[in-house]
Amino acid sequence: MKVVLKYADENQARRVVNIHLLVGELRDLTEEWMQRYFDYLSRGTIAEGGKIIIKRIPATLECADCADSFKADIRQNNIFCPGCGSAKNELVAGMEFLIESIEVI
Ligand SMILES: [Zn+2]
Repeated sequence: MKVVLKYADENQARRVVNIHLLVGELRDLTEEWMQRYFDYLSRGTIAEGGKIIIKRIPATLECADCADSFKADIRQNNIFCPGCGSAKNELVAGMEFLIESIEVI
């Protein structure tokens, strides 16, 4: 929210229209919840009425053995690399929470 208002200020915006967020699949945030939270925080500011648009980033793992990266449902217990079958892997995407862009007028 602070970032949004700072951006709007720097760009001499009259109103914040859309806020595009990049949210990792593993973040337990729904668009509806974010919008409600945003509506609450933006009340009385130029961001009031702005719309939250969320783009999901799928959970991505990288194999520790062959460095292959692949998407997986990490709610599964055992995840094996589709390339080499290794069970050693590391989460490389899916926990993001970033502002991709802000549209102002
Ligand atoms: Zn592998």
